[in-house]
Amino acid sequence: MLALLAFVMLFPIQRNRILDCYDETFCIETEETATQVNIYVLSIVKWDFTMVLDMELENMRPSVRLPLTDSFPGGSRTLIMTLRVKEPGDRWAFSFNLKWILGNYKARHRPGHVYQLPYSSGDEYLVGQGFLGGATHEGKYAIDWDMPVGTPIRAARGGIVMELAEGFTEGRPDQALSTKANYVKIRHNDGTIGNYVHLDENGVQVQMGDAVRTGDIIAISGDTGFSSGPHLHFEVYSATRELGRRTIPVKFRTERRGVVRLEEGWYYQR
Ligand SMILES: [Zn+2]
Repeated sequence: MLALLAFVMLFPIQRNRILDCYDETFCIETEETATQVNIYVLSIVKWDFTMVLDMELENMRPSVRLPLTDSFPGGSRTLIMTLRVKEPGDRWAFSFNLKWILGNYKARHRPGHVYQLPYSSGDEYLVGQGFLGGATHEGKYAIDWDMPVGTPIRAARGGIVMELAEGFTEGRPDQALSTKANYVKIRHNDGTIGNYVHLDENGVQVQMGDAVRTGDIIAISGDTGFSSGPHLHFEVYSATRELGRRTIPVKFRTERRGVVRLEEGWYYQR
């Protein structure tokens, strides 16, 4: 034991750590020794993300099958793989490329969760387009409520503010504006995400990382992005393994009709 200790002290293992960080969301940490490289994923936010990572390897064998797809919880540090040098003494090299999306592909929506209409008590708005609506909701379980610009938007379900945009100013039915809507996304405690879209310029009333409760004011409605008139678009979704979004049909509590799936062309009072 003592001899081993002396050996270690005389010939300390050379370790070389490198950190590559992405969008202030996560980092890839590589820890190199003479014969292997350990690869870690470090989440530096409070919410989860899903990543597909592939590698180009020279004289190295990965401990997992590539490409690797996984979701990582907020604040986690995970050893995702080890690369072992096949022929020590020969040149070895590695490089990686990755794609990622916020959200967890393993998230399962809490069964039967009832959402609150995302506006103030007593307010009543028309569902201009419902789930799978032909105008712009093909394949999407999303709801549009027609409402005047400036309407306070409240969280339909509590969670953590995960992503937002509020710098866009224009809105009209033009594909060129499809990525130019203001929005706020809230991560629910089951890993699903509530997305509130077309908000007014500077209309987000919360900060990244804030914890919000159901009914808290989170934004002011608007008409930004690809939009045919002032409205709020809302959807609940989770990430998919393919780095897409799977929207979820959810139910709302309404003042006069109880807990329902909202229908296009109807007014619903909160
Ligand atoms: Zn919509």
